[in-house]
Amino acid sequence: MNGAKVELRGLRRNFSGTAALDGLDLTIESGELIALLGPSGCGKTTALRCVAGFEQPDEGTVLVDGKDITRVPANKRDAGMVFQSYSLFPNLNIRDNVAFGLRVRKVPAAKRHARAQELLELIGLPHIGGRFPHQLSGGQQQRVALARALALEPRVLLLDEPLSALDAKVRVSLREEIRRLQLSLGITTIFVTHDQEEALSMADRVAVLRAGRLEQVADPATLYDRPATPFVAEFVGTMNRVPGRIDGNQVAVLGQTLPVDGDLPGTPDVDVLIRPEAVRLTPDAEAEGMVLVSSFRGSTAQLRVQLGDIEVLADVPGHDSVRLAPGTRVRIELVERPVLVSASSGATAAS
Ligand code: ATP
Repeated sequence: MNGAKVELRGLRRNFSGTAALDGLDLTIESGELIALLGPSGCGKTTALRCVAGFEQPDEGTVLVDGKDITRVPANKRDAGMVFQSYSLFPNLNIRDNVAFGLRVRKVPAAKRHARAQELLELIGLPHIGGRFPHQLSGGQQQRVALARALALEPRVLLLDEPLSALDAKVRVSLREEIRRLQLSLGITTIFVTHDQEEALSMADRVAVLRAGRLEQVADPATLYDRPATPFVAEFVGTMNRVPGRIDGNQVAVLGQTLPVDGDLPGTPDVDVLIRPEAVRLTPDAEAEGMVLVSSFRGSTAQLRVQLGDIEVLADVPGHDSVRLAPGTRVRIELVERPVLVSASSGATAAS
């Protein structure tokens, strides 16, 4: 199968005066898994619903393989969709749930049952065709919803927070499962999530939305290492924002002078964005810094350190959290260049 190319061009959608989409442009390549990521209300679901045909944009177009489908009804579009709630039909057994779309299209019973069985095998649940939704776990129901979405061999798969109702372990295993399936089928997939870890771990590219517009689209590593804006930098991963001062083409921050990648802001006072993993701590009874809190996470621990009137987050190896217990005086050293330097906002934060 060949996934479709999907283009969103200048999508606008207003709801009683509020712009859910405010000129969204985004191209999703054939066979790509793209995650739409952003805070609540930024327009992710509205964008997805415009592709599904459940929502009509006020302005702009949706193109599939170059063809304008903006006004094509949902049931005439070549897309399968999975929602956050499992949304299986409770009175139909699993086989009939999976085959539902085939029945609507009048595919003969024997053929649609064979196809349903094929799909149940694909999702690793070959023996549950005769059961009913209430007899399955949440994770199993969501796999069945995925099988149902794939039954008509759509060229676009639309996933709206499909994992957010599941518990953490199931969520992680289903992430892998969806990704594996998506890669093997080559189906173009748009995945809505507000969970940055989910987006970074599954997607070929992540599109960060803010107030109905595209803030940045990039592969996960680029988004993490080279965010284009402070918004992306602070939304994706954990970030320290500390005050600094431009010094030639470098920046003076936390008692060090570091090189800066990219453009420098025009002002001398700046916010310097630094990842916790770029902060090294050394116990030193004479130092000004002091560990306030330590959150042990297994292989790493995240420490919050007070330094004068600012606080800095540092990731250290998990076993170091013992010698860096709260109350320990520490020296702070930055071992990587800043992720981003921007004009000072006057506030400092670790987020
Ligand atoms: P969330 O992660 O909370 O689901 P989202 O990024 O998916 O958010 P949307 O659901 O697309 O955001 O909503 C964008 C904005 O449009 C929000 O302010 C929302 O309240 C509004 N909105 C969405 N659908 C409707 C609707 N049918 N009627 C009125 N307002 C709506």
